[in-house]
Amino acid sequence: MKIRRFQLFCGTLLALLVSAPAPRAASLSPLARQPDWNSLRQYAGTITAANFGKLLQQVYVPDGSWKGWVSLSPTQALITPHPGAEPIVLLLAPPGTTPQTPPRFWKERSQRSPLPGKPLAGLRIAIDPGHLGGGYAKMEARWFRIGFSRPVQEGEMTLIVAKLLKERLESMGAEVWLTRTRNGPTTPLRPGNLRKAAVGSLEDEGTAPTAERLQHEAERLFYRVGEIRNRARLVNEKIRPDLVVCLHFNAEEWGNPDRPTLTETNHLHLLLSGAMSGEELRHEDQRFTMLVKLLGGTHAEELGASEAVSRSLAAATGLPPFTYHNSKAIPASSNPYLWIRNLLANRLFECPVVYCEPYVMNSRPVFNRIQMGDYQGRRNVGGTPLPSIYREYADAVAQGLADYYGGAAK
Ligand SMILES: [Zn+2]
Repeated sequence: MKIRRFQLFCGTLLALLVSAPAPRAASLSPLARQPDWNSLRQYAGTITAANFGKLLQQVYVPDGSWKGWVSLSPTQALITPHPGAEPIVLLLAPPGTTPQTPPRFWKERSQRSPLPGKPLAGLRIAIDPGHLGGGYAKMEARWFRIGFSRPVQEGEMTLIVAKLLKERLESMGAEVWLTRTRNGPTTPLRPGNLRKAAVGSLEDEGTAPTAERLQHEAERLFYRVGEIRNRARLVNEKIRPDLVVCLHFNAEEWGNPDRPTLTETNHLHLLLSGAMSGEELRHEDQRFTMLVKLLGGTHAEELGASEAVSRSLAAATGLPPFTYHNSKAIPASSNPYLWIRNLLANRLFECPVVYCEPYVMNSRPVFNRIQMGDYQGRRNVGGTPLPSIYREYADAVAQGLADYYGGAAK
């Protein structure tokens, strides 16, 4: 063992003397694949420098730190894969010309032709019911209960909405897939397989790995990172839809899940991909997936579809817009419901994403409606006849997509 260690030491010393290794930034995010940077060349001629720069600065990296990785001239972009590497040369559409359509599996709204009475005919939609639910709801901190009330479990609620939404979209002609059809994970990974990755992840953050932190991080890598990466693989490699609809319910801090705080606050917002920080951009996989989203031309479609769905959700729920008061998100447009934020769950899907965050689950009126469960028709809710919260949500999203893709859904 001693000899081997000595050889290793000598080998390392020699390598340092002969050529200093190129420094690699905190290269990959947990469980990320090594990007294939050469694949970006397929986007040659699909975007002008002006549009590329505008999307980088206004949508994807508003703090300007993209300039450390992408250098733009009127005819080409030099993209640095990692520090010290030769830049990838991407030829751009010359100023004043019409860029070619980027290679992509999804079709944009203008490429579709809806049929009378079937506004979504031929549209391929993946619905992603947020979180896992079931036996994992407590682990993923998406569970609370007051006394002997019906437990509030976001993962189960999003699946109810997803199934209702699927029916509605299919009746309007869409082909629809769910990223999960039951409560629980789709990834075969479990926290027990992820202890080593958890050590690396805590080291990357500069956090000391105590036993409790390691367990917590291994669980987070399972239910959030591994699970979302698995759903993204399903979407990008198998379903290859025109659009992903991510369904969530929002919440305010509820404290102890067995004695949760209820609030009067209730609101709605939708999230578009972008708004990466310089720190996030240091991860090679995040830079790469950001460029794939940008070059694929997803932003304009995300904005259009999210505008329509925000209008229908706001009209159906009467909810006010949520406002971010931190640097995590930036406004997407003058529409106060639309925000741009860098989430794994909107960044990894290579097609446009409509990411919905309506209702605060621990607001009193929403909590009361969740206790009523799903039902047909209308019931008296505090003196007002209302549909079940699940049907209100599903109907509004379906209406918004019908408005955007093909005229009113009636
Ligand atoms: Zn959620």
